[in-house]
This record gives sequence, C-alpha cells and structure tokens, in this order.
Amino acid sequence: MSYELEQNISVLSGVGEETAALLNEMGIFTVNDLIEYLPYRYEDYRNKDLSEVKHDERVTVEGVVHSAPLLQYFGKNKSRLTFRVLVDRYLVTVICFNRPYYKTKLNLNEQVTVSGKWDQHRQTITLTDLVFGSRTNANEIEPVYSIKGKMSVKTMRKFVEQAFKKFGQYIEDLVPNELMSKYKLMNRKETMSLLHHPIDANSLKQARRSFVYEEFFLFQLKMQALRKIQRNQSKGIPKVLHQDKIQELIQSLPFPLTSAQNRVVKEIFNDLVSPSRMNRLLQGDVGSGKTVVATIALYACALDGYQGALMVPTEILAEQHFESLSKLLQETNINVALLTSSVKGKKRREVLERLKLGDVHILVGTHALIQDEVQFNKLGIVITDEQHRFGVGQRRILREKGYFPDVLFMTATPIPRTLAITAFGEMDVSIIDEYPAGRKKIETYWVKQEMFDRVLGFIENEIKKGRQAYVICPLIEESEKLDLQNALDLHSVLSFHYKSMAKVGLMHGKLSSSEKDEVMKAFAANEVQILVSTTVVEVGVNVPNATVMVIYDADRFGLSQLHQLRGRVGRGSEQSYCILVGDPKSEVGKERLTIMTETNDGFELSEKDLELRGPGDFFGKQQSGVPEFKMADMVHDYRTLEVARNDATMLVNSNDFWKANEYKVLREYLERTGIFDSEKLD
Ligand code: ADP
Ligand code: MG
Repeated sequence: MSYELEQNISVLSGVGEETAALLNEMGIFTVNDLIEYLPYRYEDYRNKDLSEVKHDERVTVEGVVHSAPLLQYFGKNKSRLTFRVLVDRYLVTVICFNRPYYKTKLNLNEQVTVSGKWDQHRQTITLTDLVFGSRTNANEIEPVYSIKGKMSVKTMRKFVEQAFKKFGQYIEDLVPNELMSKYKLMNRKETMSLLHHPIDANSLKQARRSFVYEEFFLFQLKMQALRKIQRNQSKGIPKVLHQDKIQELIQSLPFPLTSAQNRVVKEIFNDLVSPSRMNRLLQGDVGSGKTVVATIALYACALDGYQGALMVPTEILAEQHFESLSKLLQETNINVALLTSSVKGKKRREVLERLKLGDVHILVGTHALIQDEVQFNKLGIVITDEQHRFGVGQRRILREKGYFPDVLFMTATPIPRTLAITAFGEMDVSIIDEYPAGRKKIETYWVKQEMFDRVLGFIENEIKKGRQAYVICPLIEESEKLDLQNALDLHSVLSFHYKSMAKVGLMHGKLSSSEKDEVMKAFAANEVQILVSTTVVEVGVNVPNATVMVIYDADRFGLSQLHQLRGRVGRGSEQSYCILVGDPKSEVGKERLTIMTETNDGFELSEKDLELRGPGDFFGKQQSGVPEFKMADMVHDYRTLEVARNDATMLVNSNDFWKANEYKVLREYLERTGIFDSEKLD
C-alpha cells in the first residue's frame, strides 16, 4: 500500500485529537481505514412514482407547494407544520416536526423536493429532508455510516470526500489485471468511490460485485498461501504403505467399507505418502463411520513403524474408542493403549514407558496425551475426534518435542461446504457423505408441549421393551443456572413418574468429570434407563440400547445441534425415535422443527441451518472461526467465493506469484496480514 494511504487519519483537515479518538474507536486509524469504512446503507433521494412506493417506505418526491403552511405549537418547543404538495397527480400532505422556520420560507407554487416516510393510507410524508427546487443529481443516493459518539453522518461524509480528493489517486488495484478484465471488474479506486457515493443503482451493483470479489479473493489468497507455505516448510515424513496388510485388515472388517469411506481412505493415503504434512479435516455425520477410517489410517502408519495418537474430548469417549480400536485390530500385532487421567500409578508409568520404547503403537486418550510427561518414540500421525480446537498451539508442542506428524481432524458437525472452504480454507477437506447400508432412519416427531403426557407413555413402552431413553432439558440461553434448575426439576418429575419401573439418571455441566463419567457408565450399563441431561451429552457417546431421544424446548436449538443430539440414538439394530417437544412462535422456528422431521441428512440440515441462522451463529458464539467480511455474504455470494478460491489457488501455485513484479502488491498484502509470521506457520 502506498505510504500516503497509510498515514494517520489526522492528516485530514478537521481531524483533531478528539475526532481522531472517535474515529479510532470506530476502527479507523489510517486514511486507508477510512476509505475502507463502507456505508451500511444508503439514503435514496431519487424521485419515485408514488404509486410504486410501499407504506412506511422512505421516499423522495419533487412537487409544487399547493397550500399555505399551517403551524401548530404544542408544549413549549414542539411544533408541527403541515403543507400540501402536488406531486404529479397526487396531492400529498407533508408533516414537519419542530421546524417552525419553514413557515415563512415556503411559498405557494414553489418547486420543492421533500424526503421522508410515506404513509400510504393517509397520503402523508413525514419530512426528514427538504430542498428548495430540485435536488442535484449528485445527491441522489447518499451514504449512511455507522458512527460513534459525537460524530455525525454528515461529518463522516465530508471526511470521506476529503480523503478521496486528497488521496484517491493512491488507491492501487489488488486484484490482478487479468482477473479484473476476465470478470469485468471495476478498478479499486472507482469501486471504493462508488461504494461511498453511488451514482445510481446499477453503478452500486457493479461496485459491490467488484468489492465482493476482491474480499473473497484476498481472503482465499491468504488461505491458499498459508496452505502452500505450510506444505513447503513443514516437512512431513513420507510413509510407505504396506498395502497387502492394509487390505487384509479391510477385508477382515465385519462389513464392507462404504464407497465414501473408501474414497476418504484413499485421500488420506495420498497425504501419508506425500512428503508434506497432512492437514486434513474429515467431516462425516454421526454414525457415518469415521472411527474405522481413523483406525485404518493409524494402522497404515503403525505398519510403517510410526506411532499414532487418537485424541478425543472426554474420558468416556476415549474408553469407547480404545475398545473399538482394540477390537478392530485384535488380529494384528499392533498394540493399542489408553491414556486418560484415570489411568494412574503403575499402570500409567507402564504405558508411558512402553510408549517411549515404541512398544505402544497407537495411543488413545484425552487431550493431555500430547502434553505433560508423554513422550513418543516415533510419532507419525495425530487424529483428533469431535472437536475443532486442536490447532496452532498443540502443533507447536508437538514440533517442540521433535515430531512432525500428519494431522487429521474429524468432526461430526457437518459443516456446509460454504463454511468449510472459508473457516477451514487452509485445510484439505474430506467428506463421508454416505451412511453404512441398512441403517434405520430415526423416526422424528414434533409434538406440542401439551402432549408431554403421551411422550411419557411412549418412553414407558420402549422401556418395557428393554430400551433406554434420553430426555434433553429445556435450554435457556446464557443461563447455566436456569438450565441446571430445569434439569433438576425434570429429573424429579420423571423420577416420580417412573418410580417403580425405571431408574432416572441426571447429567449436567456442574458435575465433575468423574461424576459425569459415572453417570454415563451407569447409563451405558443399563443400570439407569432414562437419562435426563442438559446438552453436555452431545459429544459422541455411544449407547446402542438407547432408542428414544426426547428434546424439550426443541425450538431453542439450532438444527445442527438438534441433529447432533438425535445422533445419540439409532446406534443399535432397533428402530429409534426422536421426539421434539416445542411450541415455536416464529415461522423460522416452525420451519426448523419441520425440517428435522423430514430429513436425517446432516449436510442437508446444516445447509438449511446456515440459511436460517446466518454464518455468524453457525458455530456458536465462542469459536466461530468464520471470517467476517465487510460486504461479501458467504451464503448469497457463494458462487463468487468458489470462483475466487480457484483463482487464488491457481495464482498461489504459479511461480510468477512469488517472484514477478506485478504481484508485489499482493505479496506485500500477505505480509501485512501476518501470513509470513512464523507463529502462524506452524
Ligand atoms: P462416527 O464416528 O462417524 O459417528 P462410527 O465410526 O462410530 O461413526 O460408526 C458407527 C457405527 O457404524 C459403528 O458401530 C461402526 O462399526 C459401524 N460402521 C462403520 N462403517 C460401517 C460400514 N461400512 N458398514 C456397516 N457398518 C459400519
Ligand atoms: Mg465417532
């Protein structure tokens, strides 16, 4: 970026200390920041035909004063002025509050342009703006900025105008020429100028199109560059695949792999043999069979003499995975071990010792297994399940220990493609979009609150058949306390209701992790038949005998979360049911619950969820990972996002990009965004 644009905002005349502080609060520090501070909407002062204007819409019309203004006072300083204006064939009444001075200024038969809110029923305009004569063309559409404190929109407009006048000439294009002409984009200077001050609707549209492309392109450039740099610099260890043994294991499985599993296994194998490190996200709905894929990958590495780690978020999951892996690999001579905080004393020392010696080939455990006193002999692959959080920090820990493992992230939250290529833009993505054959669809019903008695009867029937049920409690956002209270209440109601026939357990976030594990174990062993729980149960537990999932106040949950919860049942051979209890008020709420009853497909649901809630809400508040764009919208502008991604990928992979002069601006841009920061590299 040119030096001129990087100057402090105080180079503008009229920006003193106080104003500068205000602008800083708005995130504006440099001239360029101001130029990139886009209006959030526009005031449209273009004349419109009143017959086309809807009730309550803002409108600007030109007409002739048709009646002498009438002024009324009420209260001390309050006044109301009314006059009529003839607009084409309409006689409109203009109402104007607290501007008594217009009374003497308005003359009969004079030409005026009035702007304000149109009341279609009364045929009135409540005035916001009055111009004597016609408006000049240049003012047809005016920008409205979001502002802070004493700043006014008018002042902002003046600053922006000044910035363009003085520094507009220094605005350089970022999108390469060939792409600009390919898509017929405007240059950056024109784009920015029009976004602040569009001439007409069409120019605004074109400017918007250019800017959206630029935003996506730069974002993807960053992602693709990051990916490329990671590939080049973080050398992995190329593995050799011992195909005969691998195939032997696959043949010995109790089921054939689905074609989606086969495809994903191939993608992972390609990464394993390549000299650069695997950095892959594996998405697959609950029950799509990710664990087998992980096992095959771990086995392949073990055959080539590398240790592997499988990390999961909870102890109970660790135990479950340990059991399934041990079972899947029992005919091989691969040793699997478990390491959680419950593995203590002599047992723990033994596992750690064997790990160091390389006698444990696959270690399953919670997060702590790459930390603390844990030393691998030859770690080659790390797989994490059901979480997004394993990232930069952990990889640094591994590197510091001298490991350069391949990394595979598994998640059961189906992320719409849209978000996957943005939030996880620097990763490769594999998708298992197919269920194992013969899986029964979970029958899903939506019932109103008043039918809860019948739900209780339904649970009773399943329990009589020897099955178990989850009852998920009302969720009250942002109040853990109330959530807990709800769980306690529901627990006592159900305990009373089922007192002679079933044991009701209780699970919530306030329990310690060992208490949680205890409850889960009791449920898994069918010592408890009904589990009342807040949403902590969400993460991948497996109790195949549970066939009923009741979700109270279901309309408060997002689709993805409902789907995750539903995935806790349908894990055995019996028909399973999901009952959504809720009385949503809004149409969106009703639509959500209806969609749940119509499809079991997590990807379909996630796309819908994104549509209904928008990208910001999608991952929840804490860790959205979704980038924010000034103007571009990942859902609506999705096609542009894809195009920009391809363009950025091609560019980053060309030699020219890293050398040629014409891309210098972009390389500098990347440097400014911290891509070359070594912290971020690995
Ligand atoms: P995920 O971790 O993706 O939720 P799992 O790996 O736990 O799913 O698999 C769910 C169940 O489906 C397990 O009982 C597993 O043995 C079984 N399974 C996995 N792949 C297949 C397949 N190709 N055919 C039949 N059953 C399968
Ligand atoms: Mg799983």
